[in-house]
Amino acid sequence: MRARCLLAILLLVVPIASTSAATATLPVTLRVDILGIVKPRRVVIRPSRALRLSTGWTLPSGTPITIEVDSGKLRVRTPGRPAWLGSRLDADSDAPIDVDVTGRSRRQRRLPAPVHFEFFAGRIAIRADMSLESLVASAVSAELDSCERLEALRAGAIAIRSYLAVSVARHAREGFDVCDSTHCLHSVGLIGQDTSVRRLALEAAAGTAGKVLVRDGHIVTGFFSACCGGRTTTPASLWGIDDSGDFTSVECRWCRGTKYYSWTRTIAASSVASAVADRSGPPVRSDYSLRADRDESGWVTSVHIVSSAGDRRMPGDVFRTTIGRRLGWDALPSPNFKVERERGAFVFRGAGFGHGIGLCLEGAQRLAVAGQTGEAIVLHYFPAASVDTLPHRTGDV
Ligand SMILES: [Zn+2]
Ligand SMILES: [Zn+2]
Repeated sequence: MRARCLLAILLLVVPIASTSAATATLPVTLRVDILGIVKPRRVVIRPSRALRLSTGWTLPSGTPITIEVDSGKLRVRTPGRPAWLGSRLDADSDAPIDVDVTGRSRRQRRLPAPVHFEFFAGRIAIRADMSLESLVASAVSAELDSCERLEALRAGAIAIRSYLAVSVARHAREGFDVCDSTHCLHSVGLIGQDTSVRRLALEAAAGTAGKVLVRDGHIVTGFFSACCGGRTTTPASLWGIDDSGDFTSVECRWCRGTKYYSWTRTIAASSVASAVADRSGPPVRSDYSLRADRDESGWVTSVHIVSSAGDRRMPGDVFRTTIGRRLGWDALPSPNFKVERERGAFVFRGAGFGHGIGLCLEGAQRLAVAGQTGEAIVLHYFPAASVDTLPHRTGDV
């Protein structure tokens, strides 16, 4: 399985406490920032049903509407009407709204109505309220995009729902809950039955509706990574944060033999130095060496950049993401490695892909092949938790 699992790559950016004030109930909807990563500057809507705009216009199906950035505002155009200029636009309909978004790249999304558009920091901010369950299905299809094992997808759905349930208001200061990029959780808007993975993702979400990981009355953050490399780690060990004991390092023989189970990467010393200076300047002296402190499971808790100028310390997962941002996410697949200097380069010998906390997606797929249920699979990786079906939050609409 080539689980995309980019969640695993970036979650460290803002680690989430495993306990939450949002205890024992689930949100009904989450406001999602759509495609902010491509910095949209142009959106085209071709509505399948009548579209009601906050400009006061009601447009019949098929009428194209173009929204563009223009002099610090949104310019809205549609045939037969003068252009409208304003900072915010709401579009409502009795059907989902398809948006064709152009920025750094071009993408399409189907979104639940109403959809909100706002001029924000030189781009068009697109926001939609996704139901928790449709967002779970969307994220399962996006994060496990090549997995066709229903029980593995059900395990993923429980973990992802648990992650989302404690991520409400993560972007509260920006006016939404979660983004659809790897910063929060990769999702792709409303999904249909058009591919087998999407059909299964919808089935996995519906079949586990309301099920989350719980412990001592709170929801456990459903972390997952693409491949644990043989043993998972914990937020307390890898990130040095209080995870309330919700997580346990568990052995996983199920991902053995997969692409990232073990790996070797050679990176020029100058490239490592540039990446480190990007992150934590000043420039690294050329005589430097690297030393990795590892926990008992092999995960790197700290990397020391040691030179005649002294010892600069970086948390192990920050070191991984620092290298990844400059050289690509495959350059150093996980913060689980040993490192040696060989002439002008460092050789990293490591295991796993992602942060290695929680559900191992490669392992989940093998466990599903072995006949395990989704609940049994997810609990293998969260042995301190149980799976419970929680009600949606009263009054949250
Ligand atoms: Zn985010
Ligand atoms: Zn594993």
